[in-house]
Amino acid sequence: MNAPVLVINCGSSSIKYALIDPDPQAPRLAGLAERLGSAEARLKGQNSAGESFTQPLPAADHTQALNAIFEHLEGRLPGAVGHRIVHGGEHFTQAALIDNSVINAIETTAALAPLHNPANLAGITATRKIFPELPQVAVFDTAFHQTMPPRAYRYALPEALYTEHSIRRYGFHGTSHAFVSQRAAELSDRGAGGWLTAHLGNGCSTSAVWNNQSLDTSMGLTPLEGVVMGTRSGDVDPGLHTHLHRQLGWSLEKIDSVLNKESGLLGLSGLTNDLREIEDAAKQGHANAQLAIDVFCYRIAKSLAALSCALPQLDGLIFTGGIGENSSTVRRNVLALLPHFGFALNDNANEATIRGKEGRLDNADHQGPQVWVIPTDEEGRIAMETRHCLEARL
Ligand code: AMP
Repeated sequence: MNAPVLVINCGSSSIKYALIDPDPQAPRLAGLAERLGSAEARLKGQNSAGESFTQPLPAADHTQALNAIFEHLEGRLPGAVGHRIVHGGEHFTQAALIDNSVINAIETTAALAPLHNPANLAGITATRKIFPELPQVAVFDTAFHQTMPPRAYRYALPEALYTEHSIRRYGFHGTSHAFVSQRAAELSDRGAGGWLTAHLGNGCSTSAVWNNQSLDTSMGLTPLEGVVMGTRSGDVDPGLHTHLHRQLGWSLEKIDSVLNKESGLLGLSGLTNDLREIEDAAKQGHANAQLAIDVFCYRIAKSLAALSCALPQLDGLIFTGGIGENSSTVRRNVLALLPHFGFALNDNANEATIRGKEGRLDNADHQGPQVWVIPTDEEGRIAMETRHCLEARL
């Protein structure tokens, strides 16, 4: 297929889009329709000359926003649409061409991702309405982790909770972990060996990848498990929920909201979920900002050390995401907590690496596990999986 793929990531009040040509040199048209359903709804994006635009779309719904997005594609008609779908449950181990049975399966999985899957489905429904002839492919955040063995994905809970209610670890950020580990396999002399991946953005997760397959990851049934994130707590004692309910009288909704929206870097620092501001405050002597950085880095290192148990051999560690690509402080602190793994960070390379730049952060002749920064490209990976899915059916 020579036509571009339109990648759509549909939230409850937003649609992120990118038009991706098979030629990697071709400019990407990308943008975001946000605040849908409100008077402030608008479409922000970039044209092929790299110029930004903002178009007000007062009270627009998903269908109206998609129509506006199509008008900004500069006449480059997509040959297919790739949808990011958060939860594919156990049903989807790879991307799937969307038909009624796939839609039913995504609906069934909505119980596991009540905030995300219905919004993703709204995007599919709206696109089908506008372009009924255009093939659409669902690419799942969970699919890459479906290669995890039972010892990694089962919780130590009564079996019926798994067999009758699908309660198990699924993992998320699959397109990102898949993209960076595959890219490392291309760039490094180690190939598709044993890689630890750290996707550190507003959401954060780590993963152990062997031979291009995920063997374990830090997120679980929901994207709340695992390392500390911008506003999410990551791992807490499962007894915390009962304690907060009994001692403080908090409802389940309040506990859920505090753990997802008021915790993490924001909760610890008391300032913000933005690591840049936290790093600046820590430099000015703000004690809780420093604590937030310390807990964040320690939990990442602890998670990576634990995930190393999944790998037959450790060839390297990959940092990605807004924090992983930009924060030399986080990379340095995390590696300093893993001295027994034999990493050898080159400080100059670490300080020089900023967003958009891929490269190795240890010396080329280092024999131990390597350190890489690889900017993630979730949209590019979704477009690639969309193409592969369609080509496999020809
Ligand atoms: P993402 O969700 O991947 O866009 O990542 C967002 C996170 O990356 C936020 O916490 C930002 O503060 C962080 N970030 C972006 N640029 C930098 C930077 N130069 N230094 C430290 N953190 C950064």
